[in-house]
Amino acid sequence: MFEFKYDEKSQAEKIINEGFSSNHLTGELKVLAKYFKYLGQKPKEREESLYEVCKKHLADFNKVSYFRRINAALNYAKKKDSELIVVESVSVYKSELDYIDNSDIPHYYKKVVFTLLILSRLGKQVQEIRDASKVNGEFFFGGNQRNYQELKLSSKTPQQSKRNKIKGIHDIIGDLDKEGIIEIRGRGYIRLSFAYSLLPDELAFDVTTFDDIGYYYDLHTGENKIKKCEECGSFIKVSGKHKKYCGDCAVAINKEKTKKRMREKRNV
Ligand SMILES: [Zn+2]
Repeated sequence: MFEFKYDEKSQAEKIINEGFSSNHLTGELKVLAKYFKYLGQKPKEREESLYEVCKKHLADFNKVSYFRRINAALNYAKKKDSELIVVESVSVYKSELDYIDNSDIPHYYKKVVFTLLILSRLGKQVQEIRDASKVNGEFFFGGNQRNYQELKLSSKTPQQSKRNKIKGIHDIIGDLDKEGIIEIRGRGYIRLSFAYSLLPDELAFDVTTFDDIGYYYDLHTGENKIKKCEECGSFIKVSGKHKKYCGDCAVAINKEKTKKRMREKRNV
């Protein structure tokens, strides 16, 4: 759902190589138009490039039925703040981690606070790409359902459960407001009050994937048996004693081992 929200470059490249996904054509045409602009193409070239991709990947393509949508995408890309969104990393500072570590709240609440901080900073970086003059010093998160869904999924907090006394995202936010860590403003907006007194000091680490932000906090504290795959660096939950690799890498490495064994057998 949020796979390409901060990496439209990969999204554009995927469309060019593999085709459109069935139900988001309008949005995907816009991303492509921005991508060609990002590559430095002039409007006329962008038009040619867009038609080329459509011809290649849309089985029923003809100019008459698609030119409206293509023109809309091209016009959208002409706007000043229509820029390709590519955020590679978001930094976290020691003072911020210290504050969260030392807060008197459950671990999974801390993951929510951490995720709020990263998403707020991500939002700023996106704004900076779109229109740097609109970036300010505020730490806000807000305010629609989609953003809350992203917060809930990316914070990797446990499933809400009455029996295990695990609260849902809206109750957690309510409690954090009572604790004075954040402030709920109108229309779903949250002000991250804690962030204002923390000056970015020493860099702690960079967050480079944005659909599993809570795991970075687990890794930082050593909680929940979160590790990084020794091959590709993606997060894994260690269940057995010897788990070193994520599923994909484990399969690839085993294949390689088998191949090697076969070669050795043949050479004996
Ligand atoms: Zn891996």
